[in-house]
Amino acid sequence: MNCLSLKAYTLSQEDILHQLNVARTRGLSQVEVDRRLAKYGPNELAQAPEESKLKLFFHSFKEPIIIVLMVAVVLATLSAIYDFQVTKNYSHGVAAVYEAVAIAILIFVNAFIAFYQANSARKSLAALAQMSHHQINTLRDGTWGPVDTTQLVPGDIVAVKMGDFIEGDVRWLKVAELQVNESHLTGEADAITKATQALAEDTQLGDQQNMGFSGSTVVNGNGIGVIVGTGMTTELGKIADLMTSAGQQKTPIEKNINALTKKLMLVAGAIVLFTILYDVSKEFLRSGTLELAKVPEILSSAIALAVASIPDAMPVVLSIVLTIGATILAKNNGLIKSLSSVETLGATSYIASDKTGTLTKNQMTVTKFWANNATFSVEGLGYDPLGDIIPNTNDANYQQFLQAAVLDNEAEIMQDEDQNWQPYGNPTDVSLVVLAAKAGISRSELLEKNDDNDIDVVRVLPFDSKRKMMSVVILRDGDYYVITKGAPDVILNQAEGIMLDDEIKPVARYTKKFESKILEFANDALRTIAVSIRKLDEETALHGEVAALEQQLTILGVAGIIDPPREEVKASVATLNKAGVHVVMITGDHAATARAIAYQLGIVDDKNAQVIEGKELEQLSDSELYDLVPNTFVYARVSPEHKQRIVKQLQAHNAVVAMTGDGINDAPALRAADIGIAMGINGTEVTKDAADLVLLDDKFTTIEKSVYAGRRIFANIRNFIRQELVTNVAEVLSLIFGVLLITVPVGQITATTPTLTALMVLWVNMISDSLPSFALGYDQPEGDLMQQGPRNTKQSILKGMLPRIFIRGGVMGLMVFLAFYWAALQGMTIPQAQTIAFLTLVFGQLWHVFDARSSHTLFSRNPFENGRLNMAVAFAATSSILVTLMPFFNDVMGTAPLSPILYLAVIFIPALPTFLLSGFKVIFDIKENI
Ligand code: ADP
Ligand code: MG
Repeated sequence: MNCLSLKAYTLSQEDILHQLNVARTRGLSQVEVDRRLAKYGPNELAQAPEESKLKLFFHSFKEPIIIVLMVAVVLATLSAIYDFQVTKNYSHGVAAVYEAVAIAILIFVNAFIAFYQANSARKSLAALAQMSHHQINTLRDGTWGPVDTTQLVPGDIVAVKMGDFIEGDVRWLKVAELQVNESHLTGEADAITKATQALAEDTQLGDQQNMGFSGSTVVNGNGIGVIVGTGMTTELGKIADLMTSAGQQKTPIEKNINALTKKLMLVAGAIVLFTILYDVSKEFLRSGTLELAKVPEILSSAIALAVASIPDAMPVVLSIVLTIGATILAKNNGLIKSLSSVETLGATSYIASDKTGTLTKNQMTVTKFWANNATFSVEGLGYDPLGDIIPNTNDANYQQFLQAAVLDNEAEIMQDEDQNWQPYGNPTDVSLVVLAAKAGISRSELLEKNDDNDIDVVRVLPFDSKRKMMSVVILRDGDYYVITKGAPDVILNQAEGIMLDDEIKPVARYTKKFESKILEFANDALRTIAVSIRKLDEETALHGEVAALEQQLTILGVAGIIDPPREEVKASVATLNKAGVHVVMITGDHAATARAIAYQLGIVDDKNAQVIEGKELEQLSDSELYDLVPNTFVYARVSPEHKQRIVKQLQAHNAVVAMTGDGINDAPALRAADIGIAMGINGTEVTKDAADLVLLDDKFTTIEKSVYAGRRIFANIRNFIRQELVTNVAEVLSLIFGVLLITVPVGQITATTPTLTALMVLWVNMISDSLPSFALGYDQPEGDLMQQGPRNTKQSILKGMLPRIFIRGGVMGLMVFLAFYWAALQGMTIPQAQTIAFLTLVFGQLWHVFDARSSHTLFSRNPFENGRLNMAVAFAATSSILVTLMPFFNDVMGTAPLSPILYLAVIFIPALPTFLLSGFKVIFDIKENI
């Protein structure tokens, strides 16, 4: 069987099913699916090969930081050669060789970490992509169920509905108002209506109405078809270039940090140049010549400075922390598409949410209805078709209304094994089915053929949120009718008559009466649906456009449907409001219903809060809307395209807007929003594709949790940046103090001896500083994270941190230099003095990291609650002491063992600045971030 040569559009339904060897009512068997999957491969377009691992590995060598380190290797090598050839200072030469080798090793270690991280990020993003694979309703072994579209094989029977993607080429077997957008193949932007009859051989692709092509979207109706081509054998596959897997873009923070490191490198370059010149001229002024022996030493302090001034580990730690963020979100049922969404989420200031299903339970029950000029209340909640209709007139009063409501309806209720009633289909429709069942009316009985009743449904015009109506055309005893149900105000606009006391009256005279009934229902937070009917001639009935059918209607009645708010949403809204995040309800529902629910959920605190309706919105200019959006929290009767305008105007106020959407028409608004949110369960594939965040459980609370997680990660990133930069400032200053303040030999220390060796600086950056920073990425958030307003994205990530960074870094740098100077005065050797400086710096950092965890002070939270951090600190402390004790590291890093009392001193004295500075803040109640 060669799918390509099938010319499926020329074959009859029987022939194609026969050719593909599949039964229309059973689908393929799993065994057969496996066999075909092995034969044809997965239903995917071939991808360009991923970037090779080797290339990925060498990526990090392009990082500016690594380039600086490589320059350091070159300098160290030159200095070694100089030692061996010119000054014959062999011990210094050997040290320089060690330095070169060690920095080279660190470059590779760094490259490995970066590679490992990039590779695992690639894997976890692939896993996320896997989770967001499209699914399609497929018939296999006699049962329908969702199947990953990649697993489709030729012969699979699939069903699609509005909002689905078609993946794989399909020959249609049954269509109901099926319209498809195939612009990606044909360039034709209008939706194409599909059909099922076989076509002539010379029919062009664009006219093959009985076919669906991979990559199209279903924009209306629904259909069932059989897959005839998958993967590269589809029409799309034939024209598709190799798809390159979308590379991970840098997030705003990453860009921010990259820009920062570039700046720091310039500063570093300037400092290095300055020190070299300063040292040289100092020597020159002192001795009148430049002593050759001094050159290597001058070079080593230059190298140490270069290494000190750059936060080497920062980019790697940053991307690890962001990936951690994505995992935390996924655990909370929030699936994000890109790492940048993590930080945007934390900055969200407006959440515009759908009402139905997101803020409410979507468990709809009709509690009241009005038909034939009488109001009835309905007992019983849930899907059990048990409950009285009061008053129990049990006459023909409401029969026609209820019959119409279930005929214009595709939902069902069925009992499961435990005799519980389960809903199938759209919840609004389900509620009408349950209502009718309470009166003993069911769709299947109505459609059953018998002598005094012959009804056939001939067309279905599905609901869409723009029209806010749904219709069916029926043939009853030889006459055609359209039954239309939908939003009462919309139906009213299209109505001519209204059924009152068994008589059709002109609607114009009863508009007030009808409207006040709707308002009465809506004020009780009920969702309202009107049902209407109209007799049609055969031509209009079978071939009329939707708009031609849905007019001149006769209203039969209105149902009032309760859709209880989700209990947990109220608390979420309160939390978000406290966190400075506004919650806005956007709904297609009636203004009064929307306002009543918004009030119940605390979205507005005034029963008469202002509501903007879609039709008012249309009258407003952009600048008028701009003035209204900050204080409007409920929008009712809106169409999807209004959502986009609301987003735009909020963004014009510099708001960061998150917007939910579930229907196919919501995709543009989701793209326009800073964070587009789609529903994982009830959302259409198209919206999931357009979204940045997919709620796996469709719950509003998941948005709240995601915002919280976003803020937590952002706060952690700020904390570790603070830690990293304090270290760099301290290192640079301790070295510069050395250069500037020691101008004549002190004890064994010469004027050109650097405070720290380059390898010590490197050790601090890569080990004792970056491991704890990494652990900060896992930190629990500070308690008040949701009591502050959202961060201003226009501000630099460093905003407000610089004073603290320079004060802490300055104090620490001074302390390191003083320790070094004290050791020099004591007459210690160069390695001993440098070791004292080194450990003072290491422990200064390790104490400070507990302070860096908080935007307030060390004392404001339990310092030991982060287990990973404790372990990282313990490891950094022990290993840093070990490298001063082990002869090998003594040689390589220039360290030397100290006396026990000195070890105690370098461990505990460096705690002083952190405790003192935090103490000052508490005692003097300093709010500034210092
Ligand atoms: P939302 O999702 O914001 O509640 P919808 O677009 O689903 O808004 O619904 C808007 C209005 O359309 C509802 O208030 C109701 O009157 C009408 N409606 C909703 N579902 C149906 C349906 N299945 N059939 C007919 N009318 C419906
Ligand atoms: Mg809806």
